[in-house]
Amino acid sequence: MSKYETVIGLEVHAQLLTKTKLFCACSAKFGDPPNSNICPVCTGQAGALPVLNKTAVEMAIKTGLALNCEIREKSIFARKNYFYPDLPKGYQISQYEKPLCVNGKLDHVPIVRIHMEEDAGKLLHDTGDPAVSHVDLNRCGTPLIEIVSGPDLHSPEEAADYMRKLRNILVYLEVCDGNMQEGSLRCDANVSIRPAGSKKLGTRTEIKNVNSFKFIENALAYEIQRQTAVVEAGGKVIQETRLWNQQKGTTEAMRSKEEAHDYRYFPDPDLLPLVVDRVWVEKIKGTLPELAGEKALRFAKQYNIPEYDAGVLTAQKELAYYFEECVRHHPSPKKISNWIMAELLRELKVRDQDITEIKMKPEQLARMVALIEQGTISGAAGKGVFMAMLDTGKDPEAIIQAKGLEQVSDTGAIETVIDKIIAKEAENVKRYQSGKKNVLGFFVGEVMKAMKGKANPKMVNEILRKKLG
Ligand SMILES: [Zn+2]
Repeated sequence: MSKYETVIGLEVHAQLLTKTKLFCACSAKFGDPPNSNICPVCTGQAGALPVLNKTAVEMAIKTGLALNCEIREKSIFARKNYFYPDLPKGYQISQYEKPLCVNGKLDHVPIVRIHMEEDAGKLLHDTGDPAVSHVDLNRCGTPLIEIVSGPDLHSPEEAADYMRKLRNILVYLEVCDGNMQEGSLRCDANVSIRPAGSKKLGTRTEIKNVNSFKFIENALAYEIQRQTAVVEAGGKVIQETRLWNQQKGTTEAMRSKEEAHDYRYFPDPDLLPLVVDRVWVEKIKGTLPELAGEKALRFAKQYNIPEYDAGVLTAQKELAYYFEECVRHHPSPKKISNWIMAELLRELKVRDQDITEIKMKPEQLARMVALIEQGTISGAAGKGVFMAMLDTGKDPEAIIQAKGLEQVSDTGAIETVIDKIIAKEAENVKRYQSGKKNVLGFFVGEVMKAMKGKANPKMVNEILRKKLG
């Protein structure tokens, strides 16, 4: 056992999927030309006044409810003051002392708070001239929620797992697209170590803006090692903000960690307290969709599939939808689950594709499974049809016809082949008849070979048994 215990807390920023920004009517769309979605409010012009986006509040409440939080009747927007070239107002509107949602839980991990805030703009340093940087204010004022966990995660794997579950919930709720690459979901990780068994928290460092599950694991693992080495050498961990450098595989000191009082928070005089009506909260509660955990329980029960399968199938909303669509077209849930779990997920990995990007429609996979069950094609031929459907998006029937994969279920044709093989294999016939029943497998193999894998295996077995006596 290690001498030290790791303590991790995550602050996750999620960009809300609203059409417009948090305090003005500018578009919140990602990827538009620089500085095309700006106005006096989000660029901090004198005299411009903010107006709160109701849909953003609704999405924040939805998230709070899904994470078992209390939704405060009254919360307050505050100004967080700091200077940075991508922040024209000189302050960010956030919630400080009175956030909208508090005291939640995701599995065993406490959610301390969820507050609403606006994002800052973006600096572009890659301009071709090292002396020149550009500023794009399109992101200024886009709505974010910050979800703060308690310091209750104890390993990099556990932290990444929490982040995965959280992403899932946000995507299921349709409040965030979960795109970590584009930065619509990113996390700051606070990490410290302490002697095993100690209750006191050690000095923490904060790793800023980590934007992939792998980076979270790598950055935390590195940072734990670094802090352990510092302490072992008799040194002290310094409270600071660090950045993860993926190329080097290290974290690097960025700045000494600021404290809340550095920001001179105070209630924004331009905004009234946010008052949330209980009736509204109840109404939003009624619109919450089925989340992954509940869906997995339902899948296991309704479709009579193992809990493990149900867990995998519901881990991604779109995959769960794909499965249910298949079953709706052909109610053979266990067989369909097998094809998705074994073949489809493997191919998605190999092709580096997402379920939303594939050409094969759920009804096509469902029909192929039905064709195997009806004996039109063999299971082995099914694999070829499956790959062709993924490649081309064509219907299974068309592929079967083009490739001549239709299974032979004609008793006469199968009998003719079997008779020939029995005549040739007198020795093996004797062995079978003397009680070596496993020779049957050899005969099935020979028949299938002779018929190029197209014979109906069930019929081959039956006829062989009858003829061999
Ligand atoms: Zn604006």
